[in-house]
Amino acid sequence: MSPTHSASVPGCRICGASKTIRSHILPRALMKDLSGKDPHLHEVTENRNGTKFLQSGPIDDQILCLAHEQQTQAADRYGIEFCRRVIAEVPQNGARAQVKNSNPDLLVRFACLNIWRYCVSKYGPGIEKLGPYGKQLQAAVFDEIHDLPLLFLSRNHLKMDSETESTMAIAPFPVRLGDVRCWLFSVSGVQFYLKLDKRPLPGENEGFAANGADPVTLLQLDSMLTQNVPILRRMLANMVARRKTTK
Ligand SMILES: [Zn+2]
Repeated sequence: MSPTHSASVPGCRICGASKTIRSHILPRALMKDLSGKDPHLHEVTENRNGTKFLQSGPIDDQILCLAHEQQTQAADRYGIEFCRRVIAEVPQNGARAQVKNSNPDLLVRFACLNIWRYCVSKYGPGIEKLGPYGKQLQAAVFDEIHDLPLLFLSRNHLKMDSETESTMAIAPFPVRLGDVRCWLFSVSGVQFYLKLDKRPLPGENEGFAANGADPVTLLQLDSMLTQNVPILRRMLANMVARRKTTK
């Protein structure tokens, strides 16, 4: 990810405090899990040629003060434990899987937090691009409202080739699934789809909502090669283009 805009309002996005601290856009612990023994993560982006190498994923030190960063920790902690549980417990077969989810609201807040943090950061489009849903995301994280957006999960099994499992995180981006508009991000092989509009869902998706669900059901996606996923194919092409131009 490369920075796409600079903040129009300096300081903490919640209280305006000028003293801000370093925030990880996607949870540091999950980025560390992805990199494993490799000291670097390889970052690619869809929109421009480029790859960066960071030790613990993208950060922004100008979005939250200490007190508001601390307010995000419970959701981050819960999401990290949840993703690690999925990796440990969900086998690579079957069309769906069930995973323990003792605090469904906190899992939804984790998804809201990651999308909000990305959007307000120097990497994202700016929260105003989300219109009224930007406020809803922010309230879900910091005001702990109970009217939370709908969340769906899937487990993907991406492979670099027939034998090598691909480990990658994908920063949030808007996506359309049929008639449903969502924001999607992926960490540790778990894909989070957050539905921000109020339109009713097509019936076939019922039963997959993570809201209020313990255990929660994950749709299992067939094992796919990364080059067969259109958005990843574009990102990987950018990575190769960048390598060629930096030789
Ligand atoms: Zn603050």
